[in-house]
Order: sequence, then structure tokens, then C-alpha cells
Amino acid sequence: MAIVDYRVQNHVGVITLNNPPVNALSVGKGLLQGILDAIKEGEHDTAVKAFLLIGGGRNFSGGADITEFGKPPVPGMATLRDVLSYMDTVTKPICAALAGPTMGGGLELALGAHWRCAVTGAQIGLPEVKLGILPGAAGTQRLPRLIGAATALDMMVSGDPVSTERAHELGIVDEIVEGDLAAAALKFAQRVVKEGRPIRRISAMTVAVEGDADALFAEARARIATQWRGYPAPLEIAACVEAAVQQPFAKGVAFERERFEVLVATSESKSLRHAFFAERAAAKVNGLPEDTPVREIRSAAVIGAGTMGGGIAMNFANAGIPVKILEASPERLDKGLSVIRANYAATVSKGRLSQEAMDKRMALMTGVSSYDDLRDADIIIEAVFEEMPVKQEVFRTLDAVAKPGAILATNTSTLDIDAIAAVTARPQDVIGLHFFSPANVMKLLEIVRGAKTGGDVIATSMKLAKTIRKVGALVGVCDGFVGNRMVHAYFREAGYLLEEGALPQQVDRVMEAFGFAMGPFRVSDLAGLDIGWAIRKRQAATRDPAERYSRIADLICEQGRFGQKTGAGYYRYEGSRKPVPDPAIEALIVQASKDGGFTRREISDQEILERCLYQLVNVGAQILEEGIAQRASDIDIIYLYGYGYPRYRGGPMMSADLIGLPKVLEAVKGYEQRVGQWWKPAALLERLAAEGKGFNG
Ligand code: NAD
Repeated sequence: MAIVDYRVQNHVGVITLNNPPVNALSVGKGLLQGILDAIKEGEHDTAVKAFLLIGGGRNFSGGADITEFGKPPVPGMATLRDVLSYMDTVTKPICAALAGPTMGGGLELALGAHWRCAVTGAQIGLPEVKLGILPGAAGTQRLPRLIGAATALDMMVSGDPVSTERAHELGIVDEIVEGDLAAAALKFAQRVVKEGRPIRRISAMTVAVEGDADALFAEARARIATQWRGYPAPLEIAACVEAAVQQPFAKGVAFERERFEVLVATSESKSLRHAFFAERAAAKVNGLPEDTPVREIRSAAVIGAGTMGGGIAMNFANAGIPVKILEASPERLDKGLSVIRANYAATVSKGRLSQEAMDKRMALMTGVSSYDDLRDADIIIEAVFEEMPVKQEVFRTLDAVAKPGAILATNTSTLDIDAIAAVTARPQDVIGLHFFSPANVMKLLEIVRGAKTGGDVIATSMKLAKTIRKVGALVGVCDGFVGNRMVHAYFREAGYLLEEGALPQQVDRVMEAFGFAMGPFRVSDLAGLDIGWAIRKRQAATRDPAERYSRIADLICEQGRFGQKTGAGYYRYEGSRKPVPDPAIEALIVQASKDGGFTRREISDQEILERCLYQLVNVGAQILEEGIAQRASDIDIIYLYGYGYPRYRGGPMMSADLIGLPKVLEAVKGYEQRVGQWWKPAALLERLAAEGKGFNG
């Protein structure tokens, strides 16, 4: 079928968009040109009394073809703006039939029509803000004219779609139609003709503003500044809506165009678009055919109902998958289940989950006391203590009891998956599923492939990530895998900065200004300092004496300051979560510098940022060159979803690309000379910088 099908039915020129899967408004494929040609033909055809724009398949249009972003115009091919300009001159009523995802350019096209109907189940919105841009085909000018300034602004700043019913209430949709879309929409268009409804150009309307316009925009800008710190698009959207209120349509459209061009070129927008594509890329496993068979996951089991196990089990219950939970003792099992119950109850009390849904989820969880009860589970995830002998014992037992074909997963954060798999007779079934704390909340799932993990087990795990609404990223075995190996270098460097002259509040301020919700020391205080202390004590005997070791964290722990939970860590808390810089900590750090033989110096914000960020980048480059991560964008995804890296910065590897690898390399080499040998640049960083390339191409 042609990309645009045009035929006259009962005096209605029906224009059908056929560009599966979502009818993206492609310029290059000629979809928009096809629409323009059809409307021109009908405009001159006396047999045609009205037009109907409709999507073939199940939706109207998901919006622009974002693979065409930033590409030069295609000669001889109409753009959405060309189509909309012509639509504004047409002398016959144009109707649009909304269904399924009707987003971005799709909605802008529909707003160029005079009348809109929709079927139930449509998602209608302008989500451009999520890619760091704004609706650039007059959406910022037409939507406020149709539904008022305040509501339009909210819709475009959040980017969240509304339902058919809500769109009807707001006036975006004139009529909700039932039954077969094509037939119902055609009837709607015929009714428009029969009732003699006028041409209703949104561009000719004025914007309704409730109350004082200046106050509305001042309040909106203040809200945006706090809620959308670092994101460039929302403020520009507010400016465009203000232009819609104050200026004639054509001037507003020109203003919107200018702001659009500015936004597209920002590094924030490039980063947000990178994040969008990176997430899709992360779902792909190199070298694994797309049609690799997956195993059915109808039931799950979790071993250990501590901090992680409970949250992991909740993910399965949330997805409607029954899950058994095995603990070491009935008391611990009860405790684990009551934490889960309390977690759900908190969500219910906030009104974000119904009591009925909570009961359903709790009913899917069964506490058990014997491995025999795990015999029929399709997947078993172990989340017991982080000790190799304990894990190996669990896997030996699982090997004996689990049914053939069951996936045996470990949630270890540091241990060697291959050594765990080696105690079983089925290493092909063993995989790491590394959840992040709190496991029921954090979106990231590092899927750790062992040397012998089967392709179907990997494919099943990637699919499972989607089922339980996580973002899966495939990684290989090494100490800390991708995320924690990098973050270790980041925290270590932050500690060195204290020794050399910085204070926690300065480092945190710099990283928070960069866009992290919390700097490294506030994060440490929140997570608790005792866990790291215990690990360091265990590692002390095997630590390389040549490696620089900062004692500051240990000294803080020795005072019983374990962070927020003890009311003090790198900061004091005084009964709240608000960190207060503590002179006692400053004195401790100054003394530690002295004892370590450091002469404290003024450290610039620039140096702090570079040293924290470029440690992530350099270790990330090593990880890439070792093949532990499949692609740079996977590392970015891990940081966006697991470590609170600001999305508008795209992830550490994208940040490096935007800064420029030669510049990053030069700084890294400088630190290697001035600070220490651990700054030796990764070979991949040197090679890509020399070739004039970036990590992401
Ligand atoms: P935890 O101490 O809170 O929970 C461990 C639970 O396992 C305890 O309830 C314990 O009773 C139970 N357990 C121990 N041995 C058992 C056995 N043989 N059979 C059944 N139950 C047993 O620990 P956690 O923080 O939940 O960590 C669990 C695992 O998850 C560790 O491997 C850890 O490295 C990993 N992990 C932790 C985090 C985190 O932030 N806490 C993040 C990612 C991964």
C-alpha cells in the first residue's frame, strides 16, 4: 500500500497514513508530501466536501521521524510545516481521526485540522520536551489557542500524554467515536458536512488566559526553575506560549521556529536524544540473533529476603508473576515479608496503589522454608550475603533441586559469576542479575553474562528486564561490573580531593551543580559509611601498599559516624536529612592531609569536576576496551538509570564526547603527571582522540 492512500468516499477525501509501526511523519519517505498532494487534489475536486486524515493500522501518528533529526531538508519533499501552512488555506472542513499514540508532530498535524474525533484508548500529547526540544510545527501556538494557556503549558512542559476522555474534556477532541475507527471517523466527517460546521482554523483563534497573564508566566517560570533545573526546553516552551498570548499567530510561529533551532543545537538536547536512542540500543545483544528462543518465566523464586531480596520479589509480584521467597529462618522470613508489606502499604497510603492491587500482589508471594519448594520455579534469584562460600553453597543446592532449564541467577555486586557457576553442572543456566537498591524502585538491571552463560538465558533475561519494567544492560564479569567499578574510581578520587585541599561541601556543590541530585559525600552519608568500612577492613591484608590510600573515610567511621542513620558522617544532620557542614570534619580532614604528607591547596571547581568526571570516563574507556560493556551508550544508560547521572548530560561517555576527547585526554594526561599514575589514559581514549572520533561514534 502507498505510504499515503487517498480516495474519495461519500464526498469525503480520505487521506490514510501508512507508515508502520506508528505512522511516523517521514519527510524522506514522502509521507508528508503525499498528504500535501492529496489535500491539494481534493481542494480542487468539486466532488469533495470535506477531508478526513486518518492513520492506517491502530494509531494516528506517533510524530516526527526522529532519525531525520538534524538532517538537511530533502529537496522536493514537503515538511510538516509546509503541510500545515497549506491546510490553513484550505476551504473545506478538514477532520482528523485520533487513535493510539497521537504524539508530537502527529498531534500538531491534527491541530491543523478543523475538527477532531478520537476513539477511546488514544494517548494524545506533545512529548518533545523529553528530547530537549519543543513542538516545532506550531504546536506551541495552536494548543494554547485551543485549550487555554495554562493547560497547554502544563501539557507541553510535562510532555505526558492525556487520554481520549481527558482530551475531550479539554476540547482537543470534539467527539469520541465508538466501534471501527475507519467507519466511525468517516461518519463523523459526513456529519461535519451535513451539519454545515464551519471551517474552524485554530490559527485564527485567540488564547484564553484565566487571570493575569504576567502572573501565570512568572509562576510557571519559577516552578520550571526548580522542577526542571538544567533542562533547557521547558523555559523556552513557556516563552513560546507567552508569545502565543501576546502576538499574532504568524509571529508566534516564527518565534517558535527560532527557539526550536536554538534548542536542537544545545548539548542538553543532544544528550536527551542520545539517551532515547541509547535505551533502545541497550536492549540489543551483539552477536545474538533476534530470533533466539527465550524461556518462559511463569514463576520465580528469590533466596534471601533482606534489603535486596524483598525488593526483587516485589518486582515479580508487581508484574503478576508468582514468587516464592526462601530465607534462612522463619523469623527472618517474617521480617522480610513484613518489610515488603510495609512498603506496599506506604504506596497505598500515598494513593498510588489500591488496597485491592496490594492484596493481589501480596497473594502472589509465598514464603517458604525448604529448597524443595523451589523445584518448579522458572527462575531463581539468589540475594544472600555477599560471601563466596555462602553463594556457592546456595548454588550447589540449587543445582540439585532446580528443574532442568530453570535460570539460576545471582544478585552479587562484586563476586565472580564464573566461580559461582562452576559449582553447578549447568553453568549455561547461570547469570548475574544485578539489581540496584532499592530494588523495587531503581530502573537499572545489570545483566551479567558469565563465560558459559547460554544465549537463550541472556535473551530471556533481557526480555525479563522489560517484563518487570527495568532497563536491562548486558555486561561482562569483572570486579564491580560496569557501574560499581566506575563509581569506585569516582568515590576514590573524591576522597583524594579531600586529602589535597577540598572539603565535602565543596565537592558536593560542584557535582550537584553539574546535575547530580547529590554529590558523592551526601550519597555516602545516605547509603551508610559502615558497609564500605567493613569491606575495606577485609581487603586491608591484600591491598597493594604502593596504591595511594586515603584514611579519611576510615577515620570518620572510627568515630561512630556512619552517615544519616547515626545523625553524622561527612556532615551533621541534627535530626533532619539536611546536611550541615561540620567543623569537626574539617579539622579531621586537615589533620589527615598533614599525616598523609599533603600540603593543602585551593582546588578549583573545574579541577573537582574534571577529576570526578574523567575518572568515570577513563575507567569507562577501559571497560569498553576490555569488552565488559558492549557499547559506550550502554555505559551511559547504566549511569542514567543506576547512578542518578543527569539525563540532560547524556551519561559519562556522552559528556566526554560533547567536551571532545582530545580535550579530555589532555586533562587526563595532565593529572597523570601531577596527581598520580592511576590517571594513565585508557588506550581506547588515546586512539579515539587521535582518530577524531567519540565513544559514541
Ligand atoms: P542483606 O544482609 O540485607 O540480606 C541478605 C539476606 O539473605 C538475609 O536476610 C539473610 O538472612 C539471608 N540469607 C543469608 N544466607 C542465606 C541462605 N543460605 N539461605 C537463605 N537466606 C540466606 O543483604 P543485601 O543488601 O540484601 O544483599 C544481598 C545481595 O545483594 C548481596 O550479594 C549484595 O552484594 C547484593 N547487592 C546489594 C546491594 C545493596 O545496595 N544492598 C545492591 C546490589 C546488590
